[in-house]
Amino acid sequence: MSGKIFKGIWIVASSVFLASLVFIMGISYEYFTGLQKSQLKNETELAAQGVANAGMNYFDSLNTEGYRITWIGADGSVLYDNEADTATMENHMEREEVRKALEEGYGESTRYSSTLSDKQLYAAKRLPDGSVVRLSIVQVAVWALILGFAQPISVVILIALILTFVLASYIAKKIVKPINDIDLNKPEQYYGKDNYQEVEPLLRHIAAQQNQLKSDQEQIEKTALIRQEFTANVSHELKTPLHAISGYAELIENGMVKEEDIRPFAGKIRSESSRMTKLVEDIIELTKLDNGDAEMKWEDCNLLRIAENAVDSLDAAATVMNVTVSVEGTDAPLKGIPQTLYSIVYNLCDNAIKYNHAGGKVSVEVRPQKNDTVLTVSDTGVGIPEECQDRVFERFYRVDRSHSKEVGGTGLGLSIVKHAVMIHGGRISISSEAGKGTEFVVTLPNRPQNKLTEEDAE
Ligand code: ADP
Repeated sequence: MSGKIFKGIWIVASSVFLASLVFIMGISYEYFTGLQKSQLKNETELAAQGVANAGMNYFDSLNTEGYRITWIGADGSVLYDNEADTATMENHMEREEVRKALEEGYGESTRYSSTLSDKQLYAAKRLPDGSVVRLSIVQVAVWALILGFAQPISVVILIALILTFVLASYIAKKIVKPINDIDLNKPEQYYGKDNYQEVEPLLRHIAAQQNQLKSDQEQIEKTALIRQEFTANVSHELKTPLHAISGYAELIENGMVKEEDIRPFAGKIRSESSRMTKLVEDIIELTKLDNGDAEMKWEDCNLLRIAENAVDSLDAAATVMNVTVSVEGTDAPLKGIPQTLYSIVYNLCDNAIKYNHAGGKVSVEVRPQKNDTVLTVSDTGVGIPEECQDRVFERFYRVDRSHSKEVGGTGLGLSIVKHAVMIHGGRISISSEAGKGTEFVVTLPNRPQNKLTEEDAE
């Protein structure tokens, strides 16, 4: 970077310097030409006076070094020329400076000489008798001027180049140093500081990206930890029924179970197997919700119908527990994933039945509102102590571990519910009193944002 800045300054400074030089040379050229012209005019006037007074005698004692002097008669014939033979010279009447002198008393012109190598300056003055005295000199050439200035110009160029080099490398280093000194781990410390005004937006951008990276990293670590815990819990939860199953089977195998006890043992093996199956099913469902399963299609649903179906499939469980389940409400059209909505109602009702007393009640209500649909599942069961209410949505958390196992719980039901509600952009709240019952209220938006059904998409 400093190399580029140096190069930039160097090029700009050198170009400005060269442009100034050309400009100064141009002005000087103009100035010297003007000086030459005014000198020539003076000399011409003096010569004219001399010729007017002394006639041809004037030329006898004249030193004409550097000049050409010509005397032209009133008819344009050349009477005298210090450089050429007058007899061979053509009539000068039409020469520009002569014509002007005859008309106005004095005339000037500039043109290339016959050899075309030099530019000549001509000045002519009319005498009282009508004749004209003309002087000419070679106009100073640009290259001659440059040559004349060659030595001082070379010195100035050299000094300028050295100065530019030193200054450019000093400035480049000065610009780059604060940037090189930046501690990118703490970009905030440079905000508002004089040397860093120009790079402040960049520093802010870097800081924002760093914060984003940090929070992403934290999120990744948190997720990894949750997964780790989840895997440990899953293995633990699977091991328990597996140990029980292999224990019972071993006893039967070793003939340690009496003939009449084989049936109850087989029953225990079956119930442990169903627990495992339920656990695996719940894990699969939770994984699908976590990963956003492709099979989960958004459709126009009716939550009341879904609730009725879920309650129907829990009929047998409710009968076993001697719990009455009622469904109330009106048709509730909303956009959602049918099997996920079913899962919400099913798990809430399943818990409401499982953690209930014999003869207890569960009521399910579906109430559509302007923008949302509210699902309420309340029961007259064992209730959830206040201090546990926040934690019941955690994976594998159970208020009463042994009771949960007794009733076939996996500890994943409410996690599935919470996740399913989140996917639908809704919210869930809980109110419960130990020993009296529990109420879950789920609020789901009727048209979750950016979710199209297949029909809409068509
Ligand atoms: P589980 O499979 O054990 O029921 P959940 O995630 O569904 O797991 O629920 C977590 C815990 O919350 C349950 O173990 C239970 O202790 C408590 N719980 C959930 N629903 C109710 C309810 N309706 N009444 C009382 N306790 C409940």
